[in-house]
Amino acid sequence: MMEYLTTYSEEFPNICSIDFIGESQKGKPIPQFRLTGESKNRKIKVWIQGGLHGDEPAGTESIFYLIDQLLNDSIHLLNHLDISIVPMANIDGYESHDRYAANGLDLNRDQTKLMAKESVCLKQAFSDFGPHVALDLHEYRPLEEILLFWESMG
Ligand SMILES: [Zn+2]
Repeated sequence: MMEYLTTYSEEFPNICSIDFIGESQKGKPIPQFRLTGESKNRKIKVWIQGGLHGDEPAGTESIFYLIDQLLNDSIHLLNHLDISIVPMANIDGYESHDRYAANGLDLNRDQTKLMAKESVCLKQAFSDFGPHVALDLHEYRPLEEILLFWESMG
């Protein structure tokens, strides 16, 4: 992931930047990728986060695709948008293909309780950015759900 983000921040240094909102429970830095055009227009601030559930890689992967599309085909949109992206909110879970954070918490159910380190970092970064629009990307596997449903029906 870092290699991917770094490649873009080097290719588009005036538009992209990377910083870290904090660390996961296992000490992995959690990157935030910023995309902003050079225009001084008043912009719509868009927050995009993915990978809260470590076993839903499509959220993170679709963010990488979105970054690529924005920079290569739709860069004009950045005259109007200021985007902050946390592509992999639950790095520990992602690395072990586990839905939960290292302490066993579902981060999607911890956005108000803030019992996991990752939730605290996310909330702080979100408040600092102050978005007008926020997207939280997950993954849904209908086939798996259908199979489980039929199994439960005996
Ligand atoms: Zn999810």
